[in-house]
Amino acid sequence: MAKWKDTDFEYNHNYLDAPDFISESFYISSYGCPKCNIPLYKTVFQPSEEFSINTIRGKVLIKRVFVCPNCRTYYAPHPGYRLSDNNGYYLECPDIISYQHNFVKMNNLGSVKGRLDL
Ligand SMILES: [Zn+2]
Repeated sequence: MAKWKDTDFEYNHNYLDAPDFISESFYISSYGCPKCNIPLYKTVFQPSEEFSINTIRGKVLIKRVFVCPNCRTYYAPHPGYRLSDNNGYYLECPDIISYQHNFVKMNNLGSVKGRLDL
């Protein structure tokens, strides 16, 4: 399984006209994709349902994930940080199959209900 890499991006906040949702669990966020500039979509994993990712530093349980459906990249802040803190991970999916595989799992587990802790 592909490992998530460390992020080192500037997230922009350019608002474009975009749908509010791309699935039941992924809704529009205030971040733009650092690679292609379109809005990122977000889902939140509730307490005790955090999503496990395999990073270059080992397994990390993430509380929220952002996705760019255009360049098929996932972004996740490290627990305790915001995405804009640039202390997180990203995963570029090389093909639509791996993108959808991740998307389905995250969509099933994720929620549009926010949580207060970072
Ligand atoms: Zn993108």
